[in-house]
Amino acid sequence: MKERRILVCIKPVPDPEHYDKIGIDPASKTLVRSGIPAVINPNDKNAIEAALEIREYWGGIVELVSMAPPDAEEKLREGLAMGADKAYLLSDRSFAGSDTLATARVLAAGIAKIGSFDLVITGSESADGGTTNVSPQLGEMLGLPHVCNVESITPQNEEQWQLNVKIEEGYLKVEGPTPMVVGVNDKINTPRYTTVMGIMEAEDKEVVIWSAADLEIDNDKVGLTGSPTQPGDLHEPKLQRAGKLLEGEPEVVVDKLIRLLRQAGVLNA
Ligand SMILES: Cc1cc2nc3c(=O)[nH]c(=O)nc-3n(C[C@H](O)[C@H](O)[C@H](O)COP(=O)(O)OP(=O)(O)OC[C@H]3O[C@@H](n4cnc5c(N)ncnc54)[C@H](O)[C@@H]3O)c2cc1C
Repeated sequence: MKERRILVCIKPVPDPEHYDKIGIDPASKTLVRSGIPAVINPNDKNAIEAALEIREYWGGIVELVSMAPPDAEEKLREGLAMGADKAYLLSDRSFAGSDTLATARVLAAGIAKIGSFDLVITGSESADGGTTNVSPQLGEMLGLPHVCNVESITPQNEEQWQLNVKIEEGYLKVEGPTPMVVGVNDKINTPRYTTVMGIMEAEDKEVVIWSAADLEIDNDKVGLTGSPTQPGDLHEPKLQRAGKLLEGEPEVVVDKLIRLLRQAGVLNA
């Protein structure tokens, strides 16, 4: 049985628990994430889990790829603790400010340098940017078939994958060749917890760090200069909530609440 080499793209994102602290830099119109702890994009944990399950069935290796600042090594170690075998961190000051196109360029350059593989799995969507652009862009840049919103991946034979793709009215069964790029959604599985043993083993696993020079990528194709997306007028919405404390016995409070909801037009009857 052919062993599979699976690459999984993972993105560190600000912890969704702290989204209230994310700001917007008025000059660059980019998100200000400083001081907010990072986590592996939740959907990317589904991608890691999907790869690990395929490895468990077929054998092979699972390798992680991320474009991120140097401190993202810690997040890659978390993915290694889940069970991945090796990781690649694509990191260079010139990558800062990359839009989805420039991000996909860097990932594609990293994956091309890694060489041969059977499958690239990404999340369908990041929890912060959430454009869903990167996975299909990556497929196009690598010249590979790609599909997103995938809810199951089954190795059909050594040359083909069978995929269940969620569409609005149901599911599409898709057959795709080896290699291809697959974006999975969060329904595909429940990511495993890391064990203490997994965390200890991850310390000895290799994290390869590649710069722009290692990837032989032009500086004008990455970062802000290589990003055609120019955010327009971005502003932070000012949320104003009026609070009103209702006091009294539960029945009295419920009556008051219903009266207020009727006055506000929320309840008709
Ligand atoms: C002008 C501009 C400047 C920006 N500057 C910055 C910046 O300085 N720092 C910053 O963090 N973001 C910056 N961004 C946001 C950045 O473009 C996106 O976060 C990034 O391109 C990924 O897009 P997304 O979050 O919509 O991913 P999606 O397309 O929603 O992600 C889908 C999947 O692609 C994969 N993926 C996405 N990004 C990565 C990655 N980096 N590494 C590995 N896999 C990945 C994951 O598997 C993910 O689940 C900027 C955006 C713009 C428009």
